[in-house]
Amino acid sequence: MAVSVEGLASVVKGRVVEAGAPDYDESRALFNAMIDKRPAAIAYCMDEADVVAALRYGVEHGLRIAVRGGGHNGGGLGSVDDGLVIDLSQMNRIEVEPAAKVARVQGGVLLKDLLEASHQHGLTVPVGIIGTTGVGGLTLGGGVGHFSRGMGLTIDNLLAATVVLADGSVVQTDSEREPDLFWALRGGGGNFGIVTQFTFRCHPASTVLAGPVLHDIEDAADVLRWYRDFVPQQPDELGIWYGLVTVPPGPPFPEELHLRKTAAILLTQAGEEESEALREARSYGAPLMDGIAPMPVPVWSTAFDPVYSPGDQWYWRGDFVEELSDDAIDVHVRFHESVPTWKSTMHLYSIDGAASRVGNDETAWGYRHAKWAQVVAGVDPDPANAAAITEWCKAYSDALKPYVLAGGYSNFAMDEPDRVRGMYGANYDRLARTKAQYDPDNVFRVNQNIAPAA
Ligand SMILES: Cc1cc2nc3c(=O)[nH]c(=O)nc-3n(C[C@H](O)[C@H](O)[C@H](O)COP(=O)(O)OP(=O)(O)OC[C@H]3O[C@@H](n4cnc5c(N)ncnc54)[C@H](O)[C@@H]3O)c2cc1C
Repeated sequence: MAVSVEGLASVVKGRVVEAGAPDYDESRALFNAMIDKRPAAIAYCMDEADVVAALRYGVEHGLRIAVRGGGHNGGGLGSVDDGLVIDLSQMNRIEVEPAAKVARVQGGVLLKDLLEASHQHGLTVPVGIIGTTGVGGLTLGGGVGHFSRGMGLTIDNLLAATVVLADGSVVQTDSEREPDLFWALRGGGGNFGIVTQFTFRCHPASTVLAGPVLHDIEDAADVLRWYRDFVPQQPDELGIWYGLVTVPPGPPFPEELHLRKTAAILLTQAGEEESEALREARSYGAPLMDGIAPMPVPVWSTAFDPVYSPGDQWYWRGDFVEELSDDAIDVHVRFHESVPTWKSTMHLYSIDGAASRVGNDETAWGYRHAKWAQVVAGVDPDPANAAAITEWCKAYSDALKPYVLAGGYSNFAMDEPDRVRGMYGANYDRLARTKAQYDPDNVFRVNQNIAPAA
């Protein structure tokens, strides 16, 4: 029987899309087309009062509540079957205060809009590598990207937040106000409330020298060993990660490389004058292509958007790596060979440098001792390939299990309740106590869910 949402449309100002409405299918769609959830209603909140009203309605009517920022979550945790989706996409205002180097960002903003707005002032916030990702989910999970070594994780640049709590009250939090909540928000996901505004520290960075350096896949073992040994020696200012990348079949790539598998090094350096570290990275080996060029930060930070557009099938798994052994590299090489589709990939993000100089207990993100955040992603537009990409991803990440830390990055996960404790590592118990304080009834449970401590 359909769940009733009678009266919801009269308590929120924004549009409410109910099951059966003409735009229901479009409205319920998530970035990952492998997830097919059918909520009872989607409430497009216009402001904080709408968020409070929708939340109160959902709680009073016993509905399961999901909060949707950018809708990118791999496991589809921005939606819920038969429940209420509180959608924040209309709450997309950004204010940048250039003198204070601060950006105030509403909870539904996408990375590309934040990057563009801060770029107008020669500033940036370190975020992820795809522009259509939501600031909300990315930040609450941690936020890894091109600038992690130099500027830290996204959460390391979070200065304050405005949060609607489970009881409908609104609080301001920062290192002094509600400090436990502020600690938990920085890595604990959407467990603690609905963030209607994030305040970020911005960094001066307008142009980057950045791009991919593509090596022959036959050289993957050597490239990985070089990458492992090279990165820890480099100054923080060099952004660098490794990727199993199949060359997209179109411009700007030369035709002879189209659909060729490569061992890619992705490099980022602020400013246009080439640093010694960047020069050295580019001079390694005999690349098939060196795509390093000067470009505005938002251009580089959205460069992969055309490849990873909404509506593909995704299955992925994330892990943290402290040491990249030769045995692990052998596993990578083996699974590089069997990559099932051209969009399927493996990324190994460097999270040493600034990201590693924060204590494991200073924020809820308890893997500062890891040197790499690894993600294996099976991706393809065709649902007929869903099983193949899922099996490859599972087999690949299972084979790497002996070489990774016990937990994984919550933002690079499917809906994996069995792995949640590991995702938060040694911080789990404190998170569970903070959950009991701020959301004792587990109203916010459509996420990598932390059960409130008894
Ligand atoms: C193509 C792609 C590229 C990615 N690249 C990166 C990357 O470079 N670096 C990285 O770290 N991660 C990356 N991710 C992972 C991404 O950070 C997570 O998928 C994240 O959950 C997406 O956030 P969202 O707001 O878009 O998702 P949603 O599905 O809308 O939400 C995800 C979770 O966050 C909660 N949430 C969202 N907004 C709020 C809010 N304002 N208040 C409270 N809870 C909220 C939701 O309830 C849900 O549990 C990528 C994902 C994809 C699909």
